Amino acid sequence: MTDLKKHFAVIGNPIHHSLSPQIHIAFAKENGLDIDYEAVLSPLDQFKNTMHQLIQQKFTGANVTLPFKKEAYQLATTHSSHAKIAEAVNTLEFKENEIIGHNTDGIGLVRDLEQNLNVDLKSKKILLIGAGGAAEGVIYSMLEKKPSELMLTNRTIEKSRAIKNKMDMHAKGFNVNFNVIEIAKLPHQYFDLIINATSANFNNAELGIDHKVFHESSLAYDMMYGKETSYMKHAKSQGSRVSDGLGMLVEQAAEAFFIWHHIKPHTKSVIESLRAL
Ligand code: NDP
Repeated sequence: MTDLKKHFAVIGNPIHHSLSPQIHIAFAKENGLDIDYEAVLSPLDQFKNTMHQLIQQKFTGANVTLPFKKEAYQLATTHSSHAKIAEAVNTLEFKENEIIGHNTDGIGLVRDLEQNLNVDLKSKKILLIGAGGAAEGVIYSMLEKKPSELMLTNRTIEKSRAIKNKMDMHAKGFNVNFNVIEIAKLPHQYFDLIINATSANFNNAELGIDHKVFHESSLAYDMMYGKETSYMKHAKSQGSRVSDGLGMLVEQAAEAFFIWHHIKPHTKSVIESLRAL
């Protein structure tokens, strides 16, 4: 590559669905930057090689999505504090002698909730459903906002327990009631905010959550985006406010854009134009 244009990519498997190229090109246009951003499909067992090819081609940075966020953590030689705590990386910076790994998912979720949906997380009761990479990646950012309660639940409850044990010391520092709750006990609890961080909807599977957990005053947030999920439909039927994860996607991209270009892009117009699609 001999041009001066900066090159970026998002790496995943599958990757054809990714909106990241559109989002980053829109941010760049708004700020008068001429960048190149492509979606790269990496074979499942070739993540490291794929990344080293990008580094050889003098790419400036990359986003990493399913299922490579843990491998990206291993690849990075230096980590931001959020990446270190989550042990997962979704944004990489390629420098002369180091690869810096960041995790912007938590910041993206919190900004979407606070800035786009006007939800103040302080002193709120929050339920987080799921114990995969997405759930783990957002816990610290939510704890930082000092909710009164952050409960974790998951189909495989042992995974929630393992995450809780790992994150306990952080929750104590923020004085948050941080615990695991079994799915069967959910109807007896009240939550202001219920976040679905599972991939159940990928296979159109039902989550198996009692609808009584949703209330008129709660917000049901689904990290999935692109369509109204059955989780959102159930919450709506109980009178809850609902949101998908499109805003989180754009906000986490905005934080990655800031890391690479030191410019904070406007996100609202990008969210609106993607929603219109
Ligand atoms: P993982 O594969 O790491 O985790 C999957 C989670 O979903 C596990 O907790 C798993 O439970 C649960 N799950 C899967 N199928 C079912 C089911 N049928 N019933 C109940 N639970 C189920 O995925 P990620 O954590 O990486 O991603 C989760 C979701 O978050 C995805 O939909 C992804 O698109 C979305 N996401 C959105 C982002 C955004 O910016 N909006 C950013 C990152 C992720 P178990 O442990 O029992 O298997």
